[in-house]
Amino acid sequence: MNSIENLVRLSQFYADRLDMNQAGGGNTSVKEGDVLYIKGSGVNLSEVRMQSGYTAVVLSQVKEILKQESLDESGAQERISTANIGTMRPSIETYLHALLDGKYVLHLHTWVSMLYASSAEFSDDRAADVDDGILRVEYAKPGFELAKAMKRQMDRFERQHGYVPNWIVLQNHGIIGSGDNVDSILEGLLDVHTKLLRRMNRPLNLFDKYCDQSKLKNAFNKRFETPSLFIRTSEDLSLENLFGGGASRPMHAFFPDAVVYCGPEPVSLEAIEESGEPVMTPVDQYLETYGELPKVIFFNGHVFFLGETLKKCAEAEDVFKAQSFLSRQLQDNGTELSEAQVKELLSWEAEKYRRRQ
Ligand SMILES: [Zn+2]
Repeated sequence: MNSIENLVRLSQFYADRLDMNQAGGGNTSVKEGDVLYIKGSGVNLSEVRMQSGYTAVVLSQVKEILKQESLDESGAQERISTANIGTMRPSIETYLHALLDGKYVLHLHTWVSMLYASSAEFSDDRAADVDDGILRVEYAKPGFELAKAMKRQMDRFERQHGYVPNWIVLQNHGIIGSGDNVDSILEGLLDVHTKLLRRMNRPLNLFDKYCDQSKLKNAFNKRFETPSLFIRTSEDLSLENLFGGGASRPMHAFFPDAVVYCGPEPVSLEAIEESGEPVMTPVDQYLETYGELPKVIFFNGHVFFLGETLKKCAEAEDVFKAQSFLSRQLQDNGTELSEAQVKELLSWEAEKYRRRQ
């Protein structure tokens, strides 16, 4: 994988996890020589692709701006536009990315880090200058002011402890970390989250529903070569409120949009591998029958929506809510679309997803 492929992977990895990031927040970057490739301003992490969603700035010029403590926000903005050699406006947090030495940088608004960053424990730990591999930076307005605060804390910590931690928690804001490869960052983030949850005496399984989402995504990525795959967990639908605690029933489509947006029926994954990932045989059977991957999955008591974009996941959820309303109201007395009617609605794209051999 080249740097940009890795940047896309890093950007998309948690782009669909609500507990990791929301809306257009968070950003990613990769350094190559004196060029910093960074997510564009206002772009969602899920929209970072090989040819779009990021821009390029001259790293040494951004570092030069950072040396000028007396510069204000608008002065810095003016200079950063000269450092920009790409086609879009760089993220307002470009300075933070330039400050960190690691090749890849990930900044997210994770629920765990924001919980800690807004807690009394954060203030206590910062005051005591705890050295646990995490740097704590006091609140500052996002952008140039935050970068100046972060630089001050990095310099101070280095003077005191002789190194700069890879992970930094930003008070009332979120987390930023860097590393020399994507996997070390992804693992590092989970380690830091565990540390913070322990520090706050919170259960480590607070985010199980979202971890199930990642297990599902891993299983799909291992099994199929999908160009881009996003999964969203429904916040208000569960198998409990769909089926009242009983086993899930087949739920064939009642209307054309259900077929188009949600697929002919949801797939229920019940068997689980030792790794915690689902056994994918029902997905294989679905692909065989309908020629496309499922768009709605039941797994571990939750409802998941799959799509090539987050918008498609949201559309599937909207339409599925109509479908599940009908299913609950009609119970076994409804008239579903016939197999022939469903097949007529499906566009056959059997070649789109190649199964990994
Ligand atoms: Zn942020």
